[in-house]
Amino acid sequence: MRVVFVNPPLPLIGHIAFGVIDRGTSVIQVRPTSICGLNCVFCSVDAGPYSKRRVSEYIVREPEQLVEWAGRVASIKGSVEALIDGVGEPLTYPWIVELVDGLKRLRSIRSVALETRGYLLTRRLVDRLEEAGLDRINLSIDALNPELARRLAGVRWFNVERVVEAAEYVARETSIDLHIAPLWLPGLNDDEIPRIIEWGLRIGAGRKWPPFGIQKYVAHKYGRKPPGVREVGWDEFYEWLERLERRVGVSLRPRPEDFGFRSAPRYPVSLRRGDKVRVEVVLPGWMRGEMIGSYKKRVLVTIVGSRGLEPGDRVPVRIIRDKDGILIGMPL
Ligand code: SF4
Repeated sequence: MRVVFVNPPLPLIGHIAFGVIDRGTSVIQVRPTSICGLNCVFCSVDAGPYSKRRVSEYIVREPEQLVEWAGRVASIKGSVEALIDGVGEPLTYPWIVELVDGLKRLRSIRSVALETRGYLLTRRLVDRLEEAGLDRINLSIDALNPELARRLAGVRWFNVERVVEAAEYVARETSIDLHIAPLWLPGLNDDEIPRIIEWGLRIGAGRKWPPFGIQKYVAHKYGRKPPGVREVGWDEFYEWLERLERRVGVSLRPRPEDFGFRSAPRYPVSLRRGDKVRVEVVLPGWMRGEMIGSYKKRVLVTIVGSRGLEPGDRVPVRIIRDKDGILIGMPL
């Protein structure tokens, strides 16, 4: 596995693993890195040290450049939330505090949230993030039982008690709001979800935003599938949530409006499905058989079926996918 630094003047839009993602709403996703130290048994993006499909991980070298791209995208939407997330753990990013600080200085960004599994949170880091102006932490935590939590994280060193301690510090001692988002793995952590909710209520999660958002396990084609887990249908999931809501006495189905989300104009990426253009190969690919190209330094394109291509090559491609501005191209 190689680690690739992404440097200016490469555009920071068009790829799913790093940069800015705009899905046409008032939330923009800001992805500083794809690196993760865990190996969760359910990971939908096959992240971590034992990843089977990834051949590169990325780090955006200059947080200022990411802030600049976030500003470009946000400015055409009005007022947005910047959600720092990724196909890895954002807290592995060495300049996470600088990133939060830079995003908070943009006029078009009304709030900055961070999605994390919390295993790198310390009191000192929480204090620095608060000082930088972080508004909310979306904490993914799926078990309070230490042994089960370790099993789910897929690494022996995982210590959920440290995560719990850091989260309690966030909720009780700082202005950062805590939103808790456990993943229900039917057959594996059924008893843990009510415990997590009771804990979240006790420590004061959700002062400004909804305290909980329970995630449904969905098996992804290239994700990891934990043995013993049954993937339930959406009807069964919502029935289970309703029963749980009655038991714990709190809403577990926040609506997008509860977070202030709405649809908003999209940043215009210059390419569409079907376009035929020439791109310059600029970075090694995320998965085997891929490279990353740049189109006029405006947008990145993942080149699939790229055997024999080298950085610096200029190659004609046809865009075969453009969903949410994430571009996939095939050499012609
Ligand atoms: S689920 Fe998140 S924390 Fe776990 S391995 Fe995947 S990216 Fe890392």
